[in-house]
Amino acid sequence: MGRALIGAKCKQCRRAGMKLFLKGKRCQTEKCALEKRNYPPGQHGRRRTKLSGYAVQLKEKQKVKKIYGIMEKQFRLYFEKAAKLKGVTGFNLLLFMERRVDNIIYRLGFASSRMEARQLTRHGHFLINGRRIRIPSYLVREGDKITVRENEKVENRVKEILKWRQEKGIISSWLQVDSEKLVGEILRFPTREEMGLPIKEQLIIELYSK
Ligand code: SF4
Repeated sequence: MGRALIGAKCKQCRRAGMKLFLKGKRCQTEKCALEKRNYPPGQHGRRRTKLSGYAVQLKEKQKVKKIYGIMEKQFRLYFEKAAKLKGVTGFNLLLFMERRVDNIIYRLGFASSRMEARQLTRHGHFLINGRRIRIPSYLVREGDKITVRENEKVENRVKEILKWRQEKGIISSWLQVDSEKLVGEILRFPTREEMGLPIKEQLIIELYSK
């Protein structure tokens, strides 16, 4: 990965004013650009600007889309489905993104970032309940099991990430991982708190409800 792209990703976090976790391990270290410079990039980055209500709502939506790596069309579809379900639409919306298999692979510690999880999924390195999956947007169900397909290079990579994540204590309590067999299970879906997102999803709902 080139330096320009590294910088571009971190700039997105600085613009959003929060960690979007786009760079894998680096995001959990003091090398994170946001740890060093927590203000927007550019010449006028440190200036305080008051955003309009619409701009604040838009910014909140962009943050979520960037965190999960989702394009507008897909995001809008999740919103429409979430609005039809019972319960709180904002939570339903986030749950769709949490249920995506690329997110689950990242949360399990089988990939260092959601982007890496997407790449590995597209290359067919995972099985869900014994069947190969290649679609990063596949939505998991409670009780589903995800396995790393036999491939020494990928298995070693996954073991290395798992070890690092466990040392850092980055573990999702709603998931279970067998780090020897490289099998992950979705015990249940996360609560809003367990998603750990400093996002005001209600603002996104207001934006789409206009
Ligand atoms: Fe860069 Fe930090 Fe954002 Fe990761 S969380 S992409 S290291 S600024």
